[in-house]
Amino acid sequence: MTPATIERHLQGELTIGLYAINPRTQRSKWIVIDADYAHALNDLIKLQWELKQDGIQAALEKSRRGGHLWIFGATPLLARDCRIYVHNLAARLKMAVKGARLPEGIEVFPRHDALNPGEFGNAIRGPLGTHQADKKRYWFYGADYSLESQIRYLKRLRKLSEDQLSSLVAGMTIPEQFHEPAPAPNPRRGSRGCNEFRILDHIQVQRKSGRNYWTRCPSCALHGHDRSGDNLAIAVDDPRKYRCWAGCTKEMIREALGHPIRRSFVA
Ligand SMILES: [Zn+2]
Repeated sequence: MTPATIERHLQGELTIGLYAINPRTQRSKWIVIDADYAHALNDLIKLQWELKQDGIQAALEKSRRGGHLWIFGATPLLARDCRIYVHNLAARLKMAVKGARLPEGIEVFPRHDALNPGEFGNAIRGPLGTHQADKKRYWFYGADYSLESQIRYLKRLRKLSEDQLSSLVAGMTIPEQFHEPAPAPNPRRGSRGCNEFRILDHIQVQRKSGRNYWTRCPSCALHGHDRSGDNLAIAVDDPRKYRCWAGCTKEMIREALGHPIRRSFVA
């Protein structure tokens, strides 16, 4: 990437897509939290505030259906640490992360802890780029809508240092509720038809938000937790996908409902 390419990006002649991770170092110069669902901006503003409490200045950029929250590194940061930090932040705010288990939620860039040789990971539109479909530029909220003011604003932001990130993630891992589910279950299980466990037969849904239902987690309730009654998220279009924001496992939830997962099918 050359200064001339960046110039063309800023002029709107082309739009740069940025890959987060340098595969040689497994580091990224930035973190983006991307959200594009109905109340995405509310969530991004909550995250921006929560980041501020941790001493991190994040810049909120509009996007077609929501926004991108940018955190810039003082030096390239380990992708794994970036992801551990943002996932723990999401857990603190009980915010859904889009993935195999839930169809709607924030997306975290870098999308991988590390890349294998030859992989690029996922790209995101470079800041201040125009959307090539409608030639529209999406500005940062923090400054006047001119390139000069926007760049001045971005240069003023405090950058996240490696020391600061290391101390924020010390002793942390990605919380269990964000782990991807095990590979496809044994098909014989699904063919049991009417015997299949349906969580919605066992709990009362409190509210629906976007594509998730939210309700009290039965396992948390058993331990006297989840007084706000919204730790459990269930995917509306596939209620087999559900997870507890306090980290209860599927086994614990099934146990609490009196329908423990039968182990006889474990391969
Ligand atoms: Zn729970």
